[in-house]
Amino acid sequence: MRTFAYDRAADASTIASALAEGSTRVLAGGTNLVDLMKLGIETPDRLVDITGLALADIEWNDGSGGGVPGLRVGALVRNSDLAADPVVRSRFPVLSRAVLSGASGQLRNMATTGGNLFQRTRCPYFMNVDTACNKREPGSGCSALDGDRRNAAVLGASQHCIATHPSDMAVGLAVLDPTVTVVGTDGVREIRFADLHRLPESAPERDSTLRQDEWVTHLDIPPLPPGARSTYRKVRDRASYAFARVSVAAVVVVENGVFTTARIALGGAAHKPWRATVAESELLGAIPSRSGVIAAMERELAAAHTFPDNDYKLSLLASTVASTVMSLADAAADEAATR
Ligand SMILES: Cc1cc2nc3c(=O)[nH]c(=O)nc-3n(C[C@H](O)[C@H](O)[C@H](O)COP(=O)(O)OP(=O)(O)OC[C@H]3O[C@@H](n4cnc5c(N)ncnc54)[C@H](O)[C@@H]3O)c2cc1C
Repeated sequence: MRTFAYDRAADASTIASALAEGSTRVLAGGTNLVDLMKLGIETPDRLVDITGLALADIEWNDGSGGGVPGLRVGALVRNSDLAADPVVRSRFPVLSRAVLSGASGQLRNMATTGGNLFQRTRCPYFMNVDTACNKREPGSGCSALDGDRRNAAVLGASQHCIATHPSDMAVGLAVLDPTVTVVGTDGVREIRFADLHRLPESAPERDSTLRQDEWVTHLDIPPLPPGARSTYRKVRDRASYAFARVSVAAVVVVENGVFTTARIALGGAAHKPWRATVAESELLGAIPSRSGVIAAMERELAAAHTFPDNDYKLSLLASTVASTVMSLADAAADEAATR
């Protein structure tokens, strides 16, 4: 049996000092970290349990009383509480739906916002210590390149890693453009959500841009533009309890019959939640149509690299984006017609 130290965190700054020492991990809900420790994939010398800190609040500021308007979500908000929050459900349905599509009710009751963002990939070679994996053991090779690639990334992968990011919640957040507040030994800094996760390049062992001594305290989500509609769709092998083959988060505003906002994020496509910025700019100012969205996605996916066993993802991504975006645009058109 492998031994490790366990501490309960007293305050934010001591956690940063503990992380700076090296083989320390923050413990939140434990639903991913503890599983990986049992499998010998994560082998920290020390766990710092942060669940006693006051970071489990969700606060909505409409701006009327001053301060920056938006939603502040503590890193320790449980996934179930986030999905059920009335403000999240009414103003950010994409986030509520994304969270509810992940894991199971029991897991969501334990899992936290911070832990969900930093859960590790479910690539079968990462999860099996008997195989080579550059993400688990840098320099050992990538068994997936000649192995089971059905769920491999189609965008932004490298010759060192073709794993996909597992979090549904992170894909939902990607279209909401939050700011992430982190604490390190040098103090507090803010990171744009788009810059929080990273592509594998030559260092796939690093999932995020957090420094070794940093951890997340909360997220700030700005309000969506007036008239915005948002939703999340996940395509998976089973109706529940399965990670995404592909998923799509979208926010759209349709004014005077054209898209004035189009934000699209893809899950199951890359090493990080993938913002489809090429498709987004193609759609701005366009009249909503299924063929237009498919054409925009074909431009987005022109940069894709596939294997014979994962090339199904290209048409699946395009059609899932098209049905997701058009469901929002059609609802906007129906509402405009009844005004
Ligand atoms: C059977 C099963 C099915 C699942 N299905 C899905 C699914 O379909 N979709 C999906 O999205 N997820 C799924 N999950 C994953 C689940 O959502 C994660 O296990 C959970 O969100 C992790 O949260 P946690 O609080 O338990 O994190 P922990 O396990 O405590 O931590 C996970 C990682 O995050 C780090 N961490 C935690 N908090 C912070 C912080 N504040 N700052 C910096 N680092 C931090 C930890 O150090 C650790 O490295 C599934 C899990 C299981 C076991």
